[in-house]
Amino acid sequence: MTTHLATLCVHAGELADPHGSPHTPLYTSTTFKFSSTAAILDVVEGRRAGALYTRYGLNPTIQALEEKLAAIEGAEAALAFCSGMAAESALFLTHGRQGVVCLGDAYGGTLELVASQLPQLGIPTHLLLGSELDRLPGLLQRGVGLVFFETPTNPALEQFDIAAISELAHAHGALVAVDNTFASPVNQNPLALGADFVVHSATKYLGGHSDLTAGALMGRKELVMPVWNWRKNLGQTIAPEIAALLARSLRTLPLRVERQNATAMKVALAMQAHPQVERVLYPGLPDFAGHALAQRQMKGYGGMLTIEVKGGGEAATRSADKLKLFALAPSLGGVESLVTQPSTTTHHGLTPEERTRRGISDAMLRLSVGLEEADDLIADLAQALG
Ligand code: PLP
Repeated sequence: MTTHLATLCVHAGELADPHGSPHTPLYTSTTFKFSSTAAILDVVEGRRAGALYTRYGLNPTIQALEEKLAAIEGAEAALAFCSGMAAESALFLTHGRQGVVCLGDAYGGTLELVASQLPQLGIPTHLLLGSELDRLPGLLQRGVGLVFFETPTNPALEQFDIAAISELAHAHGALVAVDNTFASPVNQNPLALGADFVVHSATKYLGGHSDLTAGALMGRKELVMPVWNWRKNLGQTIAPEIAALLARSLRTLPLRVERQNATAMKVALAMQAHPQVERVLYPGLPDFAGHALAQRQMKGYGGMLTIEVKGGGEAATRSADKLKLFALAPSLGGVESLVTQPSTTTHHGLTPEERTRRGISDAMLRLSVGLEEADDLIADLAQALG
């Protein structure tokens, strides 16, 4: 089969249906019957890939989705989960028990899991900012087994060098997992750059319509399959109804993301020229700190950007409250544009000092650009910024 993403998004993994449906049917069944005990044992003992029990993920709708998910990240195997956090936690419990290093500004739930919950299970964890990367070799020498990071990060769109970090980690026998949620497989392929795993909050660009919660983990079969058992017994498998909805969404993924890339660039340029905007953080802007690295490792710059409003936190809050097309909601990647003020939502739990240390100012507004006309979004921002 082709390796072109658009074709894979439409065709990869689709089951041949006896009634001629062009798409995999939705099997809501929790269990699947067999003609004999020998036939059951073939599936249970792994001699034949087949349907068996939905929580195991052995359901044709889920299996078809997983084939598509693997194909679009260029992976040997993929597992679909009931949320992005489910995918991350199963990964950490399977491959992170020797220790996890989390680089940069990960999603708040990830930070909480890594900083305070994994240590409760005796798993050593370390959080390093981008400015502290020189401490990574020392941690790897001490035997930390898994390096995890987002790139671009939330909300500053910081870039981490996937190829360089993977090379360093591998030299110490550690594995590398990249949360590719912000970029999506359209804009970045961490496995091709040397990472061992990709995780997604499929709730975002992969789902793309703010109407489903799901997660995905992709990588080499030998590394992904051990995670299967954790997913099974923690009960984290995606529901078949959501799997069908996610497969539906993936068929239009490149169209949506390419348009979001183009619109975000237009919005970023307009915001750079706006007198009420102090700073625009967008990997596609030539003067952005991470632009050169983004040019190397990304194919498109994404639909996420952050602006810093003149006048500080209160001015940013006023502008966010005045937006009409951008909805004030803490998510991203959907067809509708969303805005969040990190200091009052995603990073509200951090102390002001910690936000400052992480380079997150109260004046920041994070924009998730949807599929509306760019001019309408720019006009909405202009009226809100006053
Ligand atoms: N990773 C990133 C980058 C996210 O933004 C989120 C949620 O916002 C997650 C992971 C967690 O995903 P979910 O909400 O699907 O569990």
